[in-house]
Amino acid sequence: MEVWFTEDQTKNLRISCRVKKVLYNEVSYFQKVAVLDTPEFGRMLTLDNVIQTTERDEFVYHEMITHVGLVTHHNPRKVLVVGGGDGGTIREIVKHKEVEKAVHVEIDQKVIEAAKQHLPTLSSGFEDPRVEIRVEDGIKHVQEHKNTYDMIIIDSTDPVGPAVGLFSEEFYRQVHDALKEDGLFVAQTESPFFNREIIQNVQKTLSGIFPIARLFHGVVPTYPGGAWTFSMGSKKYDPLAVKPEEIPQLETKWYSADIHHSSFILPPFVQEYLNK
Ligand code: SAM
Repeated sequence: MEVWFTEDQTKNLRISCRVKKVLYNEVSYFQKVAVLDTPEFGRMLTLDNVIQTTERDEFVYHEMITHVGLVTHHNPRKVLVVGGGDGGTIREIVKHKEVEKAVHVEIDQKVIEAAKQHLPTLSSGFEDPRVEIRVEDGIKHVQEHKNTYDMIIIDSTDPVGPAVGLFSEEFYRQVHDALKEDGLFVAQTESPFFNREIIQNVQKTLSGIFPIARLFHGVVPTYPGGAWTFSMGSKKYDPLAVKPEEIPQLETKWYSADIHHSSFILPPFVQEYLNK
């Protein structure tokens, strides 16, 4: 008998893929957590039947949410990740030798457990001695830490459930205050095709809080529409001012000096709705 996983990506769009084996399937206090083994994408983490990451395409998302910001900062020593329980973002952060401490705040212990057990290529960075894992609400953590971090990464689920607050103006102000005076942050901000309002709102809000607000993009085949955006708010450093020779050689499969700059070139339809 064939087993298929189907995600309702929007009200009118579904993605389905065949499942070889269900490796993990538990219900936490927050959500349904599953790891599926699929022929097309390898192992796949889903939360409440929404694809979070897959072995096949995860590198684009994790490299872009991490390296663009860390390279822009030049000397990031203390970094916070909110969400990202699969570990992919932490794995990318620990590639940067100058990072002395990476605090990882994930609200759901079961996501970390599932990743440690079944997604070893993603969760490998958890063992790095510079990493501190805390199972708590990222919103509370950010509120309680002022002037603490060089970079904050919001690697959240879509704006539903415990992640709703991670897209609010109040939270972005708290992120601003949790950053040091030259700090910056990057958040995943959904699809340029299907989440136009989220992107418009986030960019407008960030422009009112940070001197520098930027939108950049990458490609994640298993996310709705394939194209994906990230937003940056920065107190001092501008990602567009980074010189190609300042970009270190990192072991990456997507991010490069050229991609650093090209990812900020926005298609006219996105530029148009940002200008409105
Ligand atoms: N890359 C993914 C995507 O865009 O689909 C997101 C990956 S990651 C698995 C998202 C994580 O954020 C989840 O594990 C979820 O439990 C966590 N999360 C959601 N709200 C949170 C909050 N308020 N504080 C900390 N972690 C949170």
